[in-house]
Amino acid sequence: MDHLKDTYRHQGKRKLLIEELKRMGIQKTAILDAFYQVPRHFFMDLALDDLAYTNAAFQIGSGQTISHPYTVAFQTELLEVQRKMKVLEIGTGSGFQTCILCALGTKVYSIERHEELHLKADAMVKHFKFDARLRYGDGFRGWPSYAPFDRIIVTCGAPEIPLELKKQLAFGGIMIIPVGEGVEQVMLKIVRLNENEFTQQQFGTFKFVPMLEQKVSIKTPKS
Ligand code: SAH
Repeated sequence: MDHLKDTYRHQGKRKLLIEELKRMGIQKTAILDAFYQVPRHFFMDLALDDLAYTNAAFQIGSGQTISHPYTVAFQTELLEVQRKMKVLEIGTGSGFQTCILCALGTKVYSIERHEELHLKADAMVKHFKFDARLRYGDGFRGWPSYAPFDRIIVTCGAPEIPLELKKQLAFGGIMIIPVGEGVEQVMLKIVRLNENEFTQQQFGTFKFVPMLEQKVSIKTPKS
């Protein structure tokens, strides 16, 4: 597979992107190292190969996008993961964020509502032999059979914080979720203190594709 070749040119561009992420304020070395370990161009069409290391979002099929590298790095930093943690991701998309979290030594459970994207991302995770479990389903419901999760990351714009996800967060756990109904969402960090108490902090505005209900199968005609 041609797009799974990692040349010196890709590696050089990747180092420049990592320098840019540092300048933008990403500090944790482990996260910057993960960006080197996981070649972003593997997750994009060959036609976009040259653009993979620019700080921009791109189409990945099914009308969805791979997030900006900075957004992925920023959400990952806010998530404060440690090795062996159980992380639930809503919105697998290309699987790039999933693989960054795996490279940080976490066990990732990731849900995607587009079957086509789910299958492609699953193949990428297998290519890297990462420890992640991917599922085609509706992220509003979370993944009760593996709950509680130490961390939850939502990579689509949620109309509000889904109650099911709050329930599946471990005590002391952190959820990073962009919330808002318009084109822009506010990045929220939710910490679960105990059964009923949560704290909430805001971290600026971002633009994500919307979090939508119900699955979209490969066979469903596109509207
Ligand atoms: N982390 C991804 C971001 C992809 S964009 C990446 O780096 O590529 C967000 C994804 O969330 C889209 O693929 C979209 O289909 C998915 N999504 C939206 N609503 C969802 C839901 N309710 N459950 C699961 N996935 C959802």
